[in-house]
Amino acid sequence: MNSQAMLNQAVASLKGVGGQTVIRLEKLHIRRIRDLIFHLPIRYEDRTRIQPIHALSADTTALVCARVTSCSISNRGRRMLLCQISDDTGYLSLRFFHFSAAQHNHLSTGTLISCFGEVKTGYSGYEMIHPEYKIIRDINDCVTSDTLSAIYPLTEGLRQANIRKAVQQALALYNTHPDALPDLLPQQLLQHYHYPSLQDALNSLHAPQPGMSVAILLNTPNPALKRLAFEEFIAHQLSQLHHKATEKHWQAPLLTCSSQQTEQFLSNLSFSLTQAQQKVIADIKSDCASNSPMLRLIQGDVGSGKTVVSAYAALLALSSHYQVAIMAPTELLAEQHLRNFSLWFQKFNTNIAYLTGQLKGKKREQTLQNIASGNAGIIIGTHALFQDAVNFARLGLIIIDEQHRFGVNQRLALRDKGQQKQTKPHQLIMTATPIPRTLAMLNYADLDISIIDELPPGRIPVITRAMPSDRRPEIIAKISDWVKQGRQAYWVCTLIEESEVLQCEAAENTANLLTQMLANVRIGLVHGRMKASEKERIMQAFKQHELDLLVATTVIEVGVDVPNAGLMIIENPERLGLSQLHQLRGRVGRGTDDSFCLLMYQPPLSNTSRERLNILRETSDGFIIAEKDLELRGPGEMMGTRQTGQIHFKIADLERDAALLEQVPAAVRIIQKTCPENIQPLIERWLGTSTQYAEV
Ligand code: ADP
Ligand code: MG
Repeated sequence: MNSQAMLNQAVASLKGVGGQTVIRLEKLHIRRIRDLIFHLPIRYEDRTRIQPIHALSADTTALVCARVTSCSISNRGRRMLLCQISDDTGYLSLRFFHFSAAQHNHLSTGTLISCFGEVKTGYSGYEMIHPEYKIIRDINDCVTSDTLSAIYPLTEGLRQANIRKAVQQALALYNTHPDALPDLLPQQLLQHYHYPSLQDALNSLHAPQPGMSVAILLNTPNPALKRLAFEEFIAHQLSQLHHKATEKHWQAPLLTCSSQQTEQFLSNLSFSLTQAQQKVIADIKSDCASNSPMLRLIQGDVGSGKTVVSAYAALLALSSHYQVAIMAPTELLAEQHLRNFSLWFQKFNTNIAYLTGQLKGKKREQTLQNIASGNAGIIIGTHALFQDAVNFARLGLIIIDEQHRFGVNQRLALRDKGQQKQTKPHQLIMTATPIPRTLAMLNYADLDISIIDELPPGRIPVITRAMPSDRRPEIIAKISDWVKQGRQAYWVCTLIEESEVLQCEAAENTANLLTQMLANVRIGLVHGRMKASEKERIMQAFKQHELDLLVATTVIEVGVDVPNAGLMIIENPERLGLSQLHQLRGRVGRGTDDSFCLLMYQPPLSNTSRERLNILRETSDGFIIAEKDLELRGPGEMMGTRQTGQIHFKIADLERDAALLEQVPAAVRIIQKTCPENIQPLIERWLGTSTQYAEV
């Protein structure tokens, strides 16, 4: 058997690994011997040295050697054996809820014991509950091991001793056949970063050398851990790039338009494009003029004018006699796109189809028919666009707005609809949630990115203030004054519960209350559980200034555009993410007058919450806000499960290893240049062979 085959054997070929253990290991995705080698300890127990009591710290395990100073049965509360020990540097309490009379006798005052357990903060200093202990004659009997003991992640029924034995065998086999897991990172990289070889890294983590401490092993400065996390990041990046390259092998329709058509389109607009918009349009133009599919993400802060850029892309498709599909995450937003596109393409003699989940019966049939026959050139809608019944005649371009709201699978599903033999449609994705560069690299390496880094001229930054909710009456009075000046306002209700029902109820209650208190203010209400037509009616009324104040749930987060509405009150802003608050705030400040955002928080505020609201007050740059959000909440929370849920790392940890991300692109380039043959093996090692996984 060659080395590779050796480690590819099933775990069942190891001694002591039989029926039940195999099933339990399988639950940890461990099937082959090599999987065991990449199953790293989550922590270590340190029985190599005696710790003085004064140097203990809570929530760590420690070995202590000390004399019993008192031992008695306590009957206060739960019956227990309470024992106090001291080593001259301090006192430590030991509690035993299950104990025998013999135990009580043995632990008599003056007895020397060694004791191992988890240190907890108790009523009177540190304590250990049910520690392992041994009565010893002198301190030399105390130490039980000369290396740290690895503790592995387990699954129900699996014992630490079992998995440890299995890993030890796997490691021994690997060490006699080291070429079974070749080092896939070039020497040049390892030397540059002073990283150990793969074999050294794996050995040092599974079987730490004597003298190694827990603190060193489990932190990023540990080069072994760092090296493996680095390799894993690199593998993920390579997999996305591989995916991108595969996509680029497809054909795509050539989409171009004449300068006459461009002129006609631009002259329809009531403004001229910003430099940033023109730059991104140029990117799109060159993508669409190539016969491989565009995969481009446009990042641009709220209000930066992404819609018109996407409309230009639509012009390219229409001029080339292809259909364009525009998918928005909410009906409100889809409706707004419908209005904008209808206006901008009025003179182009194009049929626009509008498809949402609300559309039923005959009308729906008719719309589907228009899409399938090619009669409709522009198709605007929500998730409904990728229902099975939707068939496009000649789909050339897909535009997806607010990408982070859709799963990647939905994005792919829509694209597959446009697939014909060798061709796939071009794809343009827009997001207003700036993604910190390092995260974008992990999540969107399969996309080209353009950034609109400039707002249309004349925008005045929104003045943002935080106020405690007990100043509500003052805020309500402010609305009254504001409306008297002929201006409009939003009142946004948030709730911590994910329940839409509760959130809508809260908005209803607030609207009722404000109606009572503000007799001269015309108040409207929109929330997610209203009929689309009803929402549309209210939004229109607000837009036409038939309403002064719009009470809303976070459904208005995206899309709504009413320049005269320059005041926004956000209730309980501390419950929302910074980026989401920034998006909400983006609804105001669209006109030419001063505008305000009042963050009406529920006191008392935690320090982090205060810091977060301060950031919002101090900056209106979405990218800075996103970076801070990342800093304060960490990538997991910031990206939401929707996005991080797609990346499962074996070893890397986005929080702990974030700094490594910076080094990934350069490393990837080196691998591509010096050892491209390692790319597939790297992807396979870390992401498995499932291409489906690589797809998402
Ligand atoms: P977002 O990037 O948030 O989707 P929109 O596309 O909704 O922004 O644009 C916000 C507003 O700015 C819209 O009313 C739009 O018509 C307007 N707008 C877009 N580009 C410009 C520009 N170059 N100059 C002035 N106004 C613009
Ligand atoms: Mg938008």
